[in-house]
Amino acid sequence: MDIEAIRRDTPGTANRVHLNNAGAALLSRRTLRAMTEHLELEAAIGGYEAAGRERDRIDATYANVTRLIGGRPDEVALFDNSTHAWNAAFYSMTFAPGDRILTGRAEYGSNVLAYLQIARRTGAEVVVVPNDESGQLDTAALAELIDDRTRLVGVSHVPTSGGLVNPAAEIGRISRAAGVPFLLDATQSIGQFPVDVAELGCDMLTATGRKFLRGPRGTGFLWVRREALDHLEPYVSEIASATWDGKRGFTWRDGARRFETWEVSYANVLGLSSAVEQALEIGMDDIGRRAVGLGELLRDRLDAVPGVTTYDLGRERCAIVTAKVDGVSTADVAAALAAHGVNVTTTVAAHTQFDTEDRGVHPLVRLSPHYYNTEAELDRAVEVFGELAAR
Ligand SMILES: *Cc1c(COP(=O)(O)O)cnc(C)c1O
Repeated sequence: MDIEAIRRDTPGTANRVHLNNAGAALLSRRTLRAMTEHLELEAAIGGYEAAGRERDRIDATYANVTRLIGGRPDEVALFDNSTHAWNAAFYSMTFAPGDRILTGRAEYGSNVLAYLQIARRTGAEVVVVPNDESGQLDTAALAELIDDRTRLVGVSHVPTSGGLVNPAAEIGRISRAAGVPFLLDATQSIGQFPVDVAELGCDMLTATGRKFLRGPRGTGFLWVRREALDHLEPYVSEIASATWDGKRGFTWRDGARRFETWEVSYANVLGLSSAVEQALEIGMDDIGRRAVGLGELLRDRLDAVPGVTTYDLGRERCAIVTAKVDGVSTADVAAALAAHGVNVTTTVAAHTQFDTEDRGVHPLVRLSPHYYNTEAELDRAVEVFGELAAR
C-alpha cells in the first residue's frame, strides 16, 4: 500500500491528524471529484437530465456494493444513512405478543430505541444476550436463548462505543440453524475490514457511507438476502418502491429496491460508488490489516502511558480505541487533542444503553485511525495523552 500516494489523494491529511474515522472518514480527491462533477453536470444541463446521462454509473453502484460484501445487485437498496437502511429492514418485519427479539449488549442506540418502540406497540419482548467474560456477545448464551418464540436476532458487528468485534459468523451460524433471521448492523465494520455476507450468514445487513468506507455524508445501504425478501413487507409503499396496478392495487418493485424512495442525491450515490471502488482497488484485506493494526498499536501505546486506560472489549478488536486519563474529564482530553490538531470524538452514554448499564464508563475518548493514518500521527495523539496524564 502506497501510503504517501494515498495521503496525497486525501486532502484532509494535510490539515489534521484525523482519528475520527468511526465518525466520518476523510474523502479522497477522487470521490470528491465524482461528486462535484455530477453537481456541475446537474447545474449545466438539469438534474433529471444529468441523472439520465449518468444512469449506467449510478446503476453500477449496486454491483459495486456486492463486489464489496457479496450477494447480488438486486439484493441492495441505497439510503441516505445507515439508520434509515436499518429501519427499512426492521420496521418491515411483523411481531406479535410474546415474540422475541434477541440483541446484544453492544447494540447501537437507535436500534435499541426501535426495539423498545416495537415491543411497546406489539407486545413483543426484547431479550438482551449477555456478554462472555471477554466482553463479546456470548454465543453459547445466544444458542440457549434462541427458541421458537424468537423472530429476530439483531446485532451490531462493531459497536459505536469501542473496539469490540462481535463474533458475527458464529451468531450467523446459530441463527441459521434455528431458522431465525439475522439483522447485522455493520455500520462500523464496512470499509474497515473485509465483510462478506455469505461468510457471516446474515440475512440483512446495514451500512453507512461516511464512516470507514470513506464515502460522503448522507449515504448508506441495506443488503437483504433474496430469500429473506419474501418475509418482509416494506413499511412504506411509494412510487419508487411499488407500481400501481389499477383496480388490482399495486405490486412491489422487484428486489431490495422496493425499500428505496424516489428522490436521491445522485452526487452522493456517485460518491459512495467511487469510495467503494477505491476500497476494492486498494484491497479490503490490506485495508483491514493496516487499520486494525494501527488500532492495536494505538491501544498498546496508550496503555503504556501511566494514568491512561483503554476500555475496548472483546477477543477480537479493531481500529476503534477508547480511553480515559485519570483525573481529567473526557471533554478536556478531547479539547486538548483538538488544540493539537487531532480529530477524535467522545462516546455518548445514551447511544449505547446496555453497555452503559454494564460498565458506566461513558463518555470515553474515541480514537479511530484508518489505513491512511501514520504511526507518527498516532504518536502525536499519545503525546497529548502523556502530557495530560503527567499534570
Ligand atoms: C453510526 C452508527 C449507526 C448509524 O449510522 P448513520 O449512518 O449515522 O445512520 C448505526 N450503528 C452503528 C454501530 C453506528 O456506529
